[in-house]
Amino acid sequence: MGLLYIVSTPIGNLQDLSYRSVNILKSVDFIITENIHHTKILLKNFSIINKIYSLNKINEKKNTIKYIKKLKKGYNIALVSKAGTPLINDPGFLLVKKSHKKNIRVVPIPGPCAAIAALCASGIKTSSFCYEGFLSSNKNFKKKKIKKIKKEKRTIIFYESPKRLIQTLKILSQEIEPTRKITIARELTKIWEQIITGTMQEIFLFFKKNVNLRKGEIVIILEGSKIYQKKKITQNMKKIFQILSSEISFSNSIKIMQKIYGIKKNFLYNKMIQEKFLNEVD
Ligand code: SAM
Repeated sequence: MGLLYIVSTPIGNLQDLSYRSVNILKSVDFIITENIHHTKILLKNFSIINKIYSLNKINEKKNTIKYIKKLKKGYNIALVSKAGTPLINDPGFLLVKKSHKKNIRVVPIPGPCAAIAALCASGIKTSSFCYEGFLSSNKNFKKKKIKKIKKEKRTIIFYESPKRLIQTLKILSQEIEPTRKITIARELTKIWEQIITGTMQEIFLFFKKNVNLRKGEIVIILEGSKIYQKKKITQNMKKIFQILSSEISFSNSIKIMQKIYGIKKNFLYNKMIQEKFLNEVD
């Protein structure tokens, strides 16, 4: 039986390819990749000479069977993706699953991964997190998904296209408490790397204003929810709050609302700040 190596490659900076990865890529019988052109450039940079074959979304089923046969015959294979860690929003899951079924050893060669790089530098809790990959490009599906996960207590990681960043931030601002922390990590390990963390409101306003910064490859890190409140804020309650806050201070209005409705102060505060903010930006 051969070995299947899962080799992480750089997400921008070529110096992030490890010595071990270079040695594996040199020594295996052949390399499989989702993007032959891109992998050829990588190999050339490190003077690695080896055969390269394809494994992408279109040929995944057919080619997985082919590569499993090769592994069973004793060939050692390295799987790489265009960038970062294979299988993380990249092909290879079927091959790994089938390898396990056939008792083929799968060997990870760890290295760059945009999600983990962004998380570690975000300043947002790393003790417990979940990875959600890309949000749907369809606005309604995206909204549904965000509504579904907005009470998640763990830190949440998304990948996002620069074209949809502002739309996503707007939906998040409508659904998420305005004081929750969020990080936008752009162009990690590259010349224009930017990691910006702030409250939901601050980050939305920042990217609303800085159109020229909605570029490059993006990871979003969202702090988990701290709200355990089950009660809902009704339209009627919002109206009452508006009337109150036009007569007395914001914080006194919150206090009165809390007394009347028995809702936690923090929850109420966040909801009302969000309401005020959305009215202002619309
Ligand atoms: N397998 C890759 C990994 O390990 O991160 C992810 C591949 S996925 C198809 C590509 C997405 O990853 C990009 O659209 C972006 O969201 C994120 N990404 C990749 N490289 C990045 C970088 N240098 N900076 C920020 N995000 C990056």
